Amino acid sequence: MKDEKIYTKLTSSVLKYSTDFFHEKGFVQLMPVILSPVTDPLGPDPGSSVIKTGEVEYLGQKLSLTQSMILHKQIAIRAGIEKLFIISPNIRLEHPKRKKTGRHLFEFSQVDFEIAHAKKEDVYKLMEEFLVGLVKKIKKEHNEELGLLDRKLPDIKTPFSKFTTTKLKERYGKEWEMSASIEEKQPFWTISHKREFYDKEDPEKPGEYLNYDLVYPEGFGEALSGAEREHEFSSIIRKIKGDELDKTRYAPYLELAKKGLIPSAGGGCGVERMVRYLSGAKHIGDVQLFRRVPGESVLV
Ligand code: ASP
Ligand code: MG
Repeated sequence: MKDEKIYTKLTSSVLKYSTDFFHEKGFVQLMPVILSPVTDPLGPDPGSSVIKTGEVEYLGQKLSLTQSMILHKQIAIRAGIEKLFIISPNIRLEHPKRKKTGRHLFEFSQVDFEIAHAKKEDVYKLMEEFLVGLVKKIKKEHNEELGLLDRKLPDIKTPFSKFTTTKLKERYGKEWEMSASIEEKQPFWTISHKREFYDKEDPEKPGEYLNYDLVYPEGFGEALSGAEREHEFSSIIRKIKGDELDKTRYAPYLELAKKGLIPSAGGGCGVERMVRYLSGAKHIGDVQLFRRVPGESVLV
């Protein structure tokens, strides 16, 4: 069997597993949004290298291509959809220097989810169960394909370790996330990152954040990022100003935030990154039937 066929079958299984998992837990599946006046600013985030936001001008309105549906997730929660998920295509026009990381795509999909009134511990529990079940299923149903790829996928054990970013930076320096990923034998959580305004700052400990990344072992890097959310207008507007974002770009979201958002927590787990981890592919572009690697020209 050709590798591209194997990766495509694994992707199909990941999509089915993700959809079934969230439906079985009572989540409502939303349709993805592709164009909107508002999208995730993706910054300031030291992990982001997006050079510009994709835009389409349509009938005099500037619409951004979705970088993530985070703001829509908060708006959907506000509409009373208490547990939701989307298989969400994202466009992130990354700097071409990211061509060789093996982990970056400028078009990818994530399993994006959000839960009203949830705390970070609820997300840890949910996504640990998700990943354990996924690895089990793939090993059971795709043993032959994993063999053809020479991939020995280790079983994973819960609960996953948790490390603060401060501790990891002390230990590994600037490349802490990748260094820890290479070092660790099991998936682990990194907690408290200073990044986008929508991730909640700890009200009891300013300068600390109620957010998290899930990181794969064996050097495969980040799997998921997410957080408890800022839901109070005053905090949102203070942080948008602090990040020097153009608040007029967020006007429709800010209007709703002023009327009140509902506390929530969630995250997004990259589909192609799941497939890369499961299959052991060298480069994430290899798992896509239609490659979207920063710095490479697009064939089809
Ligand atoms: N989906 C992520 C979240 O829920 C945001 C992102 O894609 O970076 O926080
Ligand atoms: Mg992010």
